[in-house]
Parts: sequence; structure tokens; C-alpha cells
Amino acid sequence: MPRPEPDGSARPDAAARPERRPRRRESGLSLLEDVGEIISQSHDLQSSLEQIVQVVGARVQTEVCSLYIYDPRARRLTLWATEGLNKGSVGKVHMGLDEGLTGLVLQKLEPVMVVDALAHPRYKYFPETGEERYHSFLGVPVMVKRKPLGVLVVQTLRRRRFGADEVRLLRTIATQVSSIVVQARQAETIELKEKERKEYRKGMLEAILRLQEYEKQRDVETPPRPDSRSRRLVGVGASPGFGTGRAHVLRPLVSFDDLEQLRSDDPHAEWQRIEHAVSESIDQVEHLKGRLSERMPEVDSSIFDTHRMMLEDRTFLDRLKKLIDDGLAAESALQVTITEYVGTFSRMTQRYLRERATDVKDIGNRILKNLLGVEDHARDFQDDAVLVAEELTLSDLATIDHDKLRGIALATGGVTSHASILAKSFEIPTVVGIQHLLESVKENEAMVVDGNSGIVYVAPSEEIVREYERLDRDYRAFNLELESLHDLLAVSPDGHSISVLANIGLIGDVAFAKRHGAEGVGLYRTEFPFLTYGEFPDEDEQIRLYRKVIEEMSNTPVTIRTLDLGADKYPSYLPFAKEENPFLGWRSIRVSLELTDLFKVQLRAILRASAYGRVKLLLPMISSLEEVWQAKEIIDEAKRELRREGQPFDESVPVGIMIEVPAAVAIADALIREVDFFSLGTNDLIQYVLAVDRNNRKVAPLYEALHPAVIRAVAQAIRAARDQGKWVGICGEMASDPLCVPILIGFGINELSMEPFSIPLIKKLIRSIDFATAQEMSAAVLGMTSVKEIKGYLFTMMKKMGVIELTEIYH
Ligand code: PEP
Ligand code: MG
Repeated sequence: MPRPEPDGSARPDAAARPERRPRRRESGLSLLEDVGEIISQSHDLQSSLEQIVQVVGARVQTEVCSLYIYDPRARRLTLWATEGLNKGSVGKVHMGLDEGLTGLVLQKLEPVMVVDALAHPRYKYFPETGEERYHSFLGVPVMVKRKPLGVLVVQTLRRRRFGADEVRLLRTIATQVSSIVVQARQAETIELKEKERKEYRKGMLEAILRLQEYEKQRDVETPPRPDSRSRRLVGVGASPGFGTGRAHVLRPLVSFDDLEQLRSDDPHAEWQRIEHAVSESIDQVEHLKGRLSERMPEVDSSIFDTHRMMLEDRTFLDRLKKLIDDGLAAESALQVTITEYVGTFSRMTQRYLRERATDVKDIGNRILKNLLGVEDHARDFQDDAVLVAEELTLSDLATIDHDKLRGIALATGGVTSHASILAKSFEIPTVVGIQHLLESVKENEAMVVDGNSGIVYVAPSEEIVREYERLDRDYRAFNLELESLHDLLAVSPDGHSISVLANIGLIGDVAFAKRHGAEGVGLYRTEFPFLTYGEFPDEDEQIRLYRKVIEEMSNTPVTIRTLDLGADKYPSYLPFAKEENPFLGWRSIRVSLELTDLFKVQLRAILRASAYGRVKLLLPMISSLEEVWQAKEIIDEAKRELRREGQPFDESVPVGIMIEVPAAVAIADALIREVDFFSLGTNDLIQYVLAVDRNNRKVAPLYEALHPAVIRAVAQAIRAARDQGKWVGICGEMASDPLCVPILIGFGINELSMEPFSIPLIKKLIRSIDFATAQEMSAAVLGMTSVKEIKGYLFTMMKKMGVIELTEIYH
């Protein structure tokens, strides 16, 4: 099989390739058509594959799309075409089937999705590709009749999960690609003869028609027969890990669907039944409210107040009464009323209100259960239960005994649904969005839940169980290895200490932070509860959340950042207008300094929470001294109020600012005199220094932490703080990038704060490099003027020191 020239010289020049059509339709179907068209016009395998990765990458909006081809004789995969990785590595990167995540795809012959590839036990580092910047990985096998031909991979800069539709689409494209590879293999030449090409086009046309048909049918697929042997159901991984157990199918205990319309000639008795059921329901929701707030602190348990309000709502009760007076039995009056309410909510234009339809159903079911005298005993599980359900309501979440659960499989729900958040915080492997789930699983059937790949097996074969046992062993070994690094201090061999802390967004993340050995929280992004609540959480509500984090971090420092709303985070209750350039618009501190009442509520809550531990207060997106002065004035006002009210707080709570705007770097020497510390938000700093949108994949290759302009800005900000003897940390993703860490240390950074799972690796890295060497490296890099030079130098140095292998420690 022909192999591409390592330097790409044998491939046609980009400019000579047929131009891509300007058409910009976004459906999966049009992407399939485009890929099909590239294939049908193919004269040259290499250039077709290059066009395919280019088109796929652009349309599925990932920064990287690559194709690896499998050579069965050498039993290895070779990078064949890529959009996003270094083109120079094409033809040079090889891996065996037991190597890397790409190898794993072919080993499993199934899609593999990993939210953070760098932290996965199977991650293998290929320095020449430049892939260390990319976190999320989705690979699908390219095969024909279960025989491996290659792997199609997409990767993204940001940690994210791929949806079931994306997985399906990529698999379909892999099917298209397989035909072209087979053809090329058979011909052993990139030139297809005319006759063959015609045949080939015909075959492709048929394949495309079949695929289009498949796309159309996708939503009306016939469910798999529940009595067939091993069944494989695909959804979306919502909480990682592998769980094996027996199905516990959670069906609603009662359902309006099973009710026939009943009439009664004793409206008085029927109304009394309703009153009794409603009053029982009120007691139950009060109890559930208490349980939910213990389990999921950020989820607005006051949602149960909404339930209560509805249970006490006059209009709701009057409607029931009217229907009963008209001769309906209590159950039927309830059915009619609930159906009307669900219909009304479902038609609302605001998403938040639309979603309340689920609450109405929840309330309706609760009253019905009480009317029929049905008790909630179904939450009793056997010890190795895999919970199977259509959806989980907040009432379910408040009552489920999660200790016994080995896995969760849901027909509905997204990865940010309440169910997914709960599963993640209890580390229960979970797959959501599985079509035909309830028709496919019987009570007590054996199940495997693969929360990493988003796959569920029902009645799995021995082979599958064996494979998952192996994976589970690897996964546990990986976690054990993490635990062994847990207590290591981040001190260089020549005695220089760096603090390594965690970035968190949810209270559930605290457990991960502690497990991975964080020495505190370097960035608590407080936005989440503000986005999930129906209205601005009041001071007490906020204190409750902050206090929980502070107390759970048991006297280690916790840096709480004030709200960073706007740009891509909009709560429904604040007046955000549509903007042309939201990242340059009304966001973050600019919002806080305008909505000062709300800002003060948050500051008071943070200050009051400071009485419970070691709190630092962090202000995001600062770009001028005036902003710092204004913010400090409001902080002082909040402090004065608290003193007057006799509320305890830490009088000397350190106040710092995020350096994430170039203007702040330019005046860093002045800003640092006004505050106690800096925290460098390089995620934003990079986008603003380079004028590269951090979320726009089209320009993603330009988003470069090791750009000399970024390095110099970072060095300048660190120097400004250190010159004043002030403390400086970094909480952007640069802090967990192994290539960047040595130079950050060399510049004099005091603290690195990152996603918890990167902590052990970075600690180990810090422990492997002398501070003197780090200083030498940072000085050298400051004298360089191109990304290529900087990266080349860092790779060479890290290779020389033997630390480049550190990114593979989890193998
Ligand atoms: C940053 O910009 O680097 C940062 C840590 O903040 P966020 O990612 O929340 O914008
Ligand atoms: Mg930021």
C-alpha cells in the first residue's frame, strides 16, 4: 500500500486541489453527501483522504480530524492524513494495536470517546504531532466485514463529550472511507483505472443512498428484540468508568396512561380524596427538599418549593374541583388537569419554563400515587444494581440509594442534566440518551455500562465481560497509581516548592480535587448555580454553597472567583441583550460593576463564608485600575455592612485579580500595588493577545499557548508581581500543559491550579526538573521569536532530561 511522503512533498499542493464547495449546510446528511462527492471524484487516495479530514473537521466542528491506516502485515497503524495535527508527522507516526487510544479503537473495533485523552491510561504521546493541546478524543474504527482498515479520529482543544449523533455520523463517514481504502488496497496504486473508477462510483452511489436512507430512518429504528442474546446499546457517556451488574428497571409506579376515564356521583367524597392526596404530597416534597439539598447542593432544591406552590395553587385546585363537580372521579380530574398544564408549559418559548413540564408530570404522578395509596418502595435495590429508566426526576434523585448502584442507563437526559451531575458526583458510570432502552432490557438481566464510550451491553457475551474486566482492572490500576502520587509534595530536586491546586466548578469536584492530591482550590468558578437557578440565588443560598466547599477542603486555601457571566454564560433571569462580540462585550466584572446590588450580595456571601476557612477573593477580567478601585470600594462597603450587622468574616481576606486581558499585562506593575495577588487566566489571555476566539475551531490552530507573544505577556505579569514580593498563580489550562510548566516555574510562578486529574502528573513533572534548569529554559525561551523554535527547544530539553516520557506514566 502506498505510504505518503513524510514531508508531504508527493501530495498535490493544497492550491491545486479541487476547491471545496461554498455550500454551507450543517446537517449530517449534507456532510455525508460532501464526503461521498469527494470519494466519487477521487483520483488519488491521499488527496481524497486529506479533503475528507478537512471537510469532516470543519463540519463536525473539531480542531483535529485524522485518519490512521492499518497495515495488517506490520500490525500497526500509521497517521495517513490530518487536519489539525502537524502535517509533518503524516507517515511518521506509527503505533501498534496495544498503543494509544487510536490503537484501542481497533482493539475494541468500537468507538472510543474520552473527555480528557491526556489523563487516560491508554494515552500515548507522540511529540511530533503537537497533539498535547487537544483534550477530547473520539475515534471510530474504519472496517470492512469486521476487518480493521484504520481509525478515524476527531480531537478538540476543550474538554467535551461528543453526542450520540456525532458518534453515529462519524461511524457513517468511516463506512464511506472504508470503501475508498479497500479500493486503494486492492489496486495497490493511487491511480484507479477508468473502468474501476466507474464501478467504484456506482458502488459509492449505492452506499450513499443507503446511508441517506439510514439517516432518515435513524429516529424510527426498530428496537432490538429483547430476547436476542448479547445486545449493545449506544448512548452518550455522562459519567466515566465501567460498571457491571443486574438491571433494575425503574418504571413509574403509576401512570396516567393506564387510567380509564372514571366518573363518580359523589363529588364531595372525591374532593376529600384529592385534598388528602394533595396534603400528603406537600409533606413528601418538604421531606424531599431536605434530602436533595444534602445530596446535590448546587441543584436548586427550591424547585420543590415550586412543587409546593403548585400543590397549593388556587387556580390548579379550582380546576380540579370544577372537573370533580362536573362528575369526574378524582383520578380522572387530575389526569385532565395535569395534561392541560403539561401542554401549556411545553408550548412556552422560554426553555426554563418549558422544562417545568417535567415538574408538572412529577407532581401529577405524586398526587396520583397518593390517591391510589401506592407506596414508594421501588427504591430498594440489590447490591449490584444497574439502574435502567426512561428518565430520572428530581424526586428520584433525592431518594435513590446510590451506594448500591453499579451503573445508570437512561433513555433520555443530557450530560448536563441533573441525573448526570448526580451520577458524576457519586462516580457512578452512566450512559444517557439510549434509544429503545426500556424495550431492550428485562429486569435482572446482566449489564455492562461503559461510561467512557457511552455504550451499554445487555446480557453481554463472555468475551465482552472478560474485556471489561480487563479494562476495569486497568482503570483501577490507573486510579491506584494516582493515589500513590497523592501525598507527594511538588518540590523540585533542588528544593523549590510550587503549590498545586485544583480548579472546580461544582461542589462534587471537591472530592476529585482531594482524591488527586490538590493542596487547595486555586479557582472556584461560581457560575454554575447561577446558571441553573430560576432566579438569582440569595445571600444565604450562596453562603451555603461556598461554605460547603470551604469546609470540605478542610483548611486548605480556596480562591473564590466572583461571577464571570456573559460571553457564553447567560442565566435566564438577567437582562443580557444579543451582542455582536460577546467576548468583547458585557461580561464578567463589567456585569458585576453595573449590577452592583447583585455583586454586593455575592461579595457579602464570599466574605461571610470566609469565616469558615482560608478564603481568597478573585476578580475576573480586570482591564484597568478604575475597575479595581470600583470593585474594592464595593468590597469595603460590604465589609462595613457586615461589621455593622455583627456578621463574622476574615478581615484580611486576600483580594486578587485575574490577568486575562492584554491591557492588564501592560499595567501589571500598577495593578499589583492595588491587590494581594495575581491569578493568570491564560485561557482568555491567549485569545485576547492573539485575537483568536478560544471557541472557534476554524482558527483553533492559531490558539497557541507557546506563541512568543503569549510567553512574554505571561513572563511580564509574573515579573510584575514578583518584583513587588507578591504572590502569583496561574489557573488557565497552561498550568497543566507539561510543555509550559517548566518555563512557568522558571518565570517564578508560585501556584499552578488545574483540573483535578492533571495534578499527579504535574506534581511528578515538578519533582523531576531542577529549578535552576527551569530558569535556564525560561530565559532561553524569552529570547525566541517563533512557536516552532520554542516548541522545538522545549521538546529537545524535555527529551534530554527524560521527562517527556512523563506524559506516559499511566501506561
Ligand atoms: C481563564 O480564562 O484562563 C480562566 C481560568 O477562566 P475561564 O476559563 O473560566 O474563562
Ligand atoms: Mg477567563
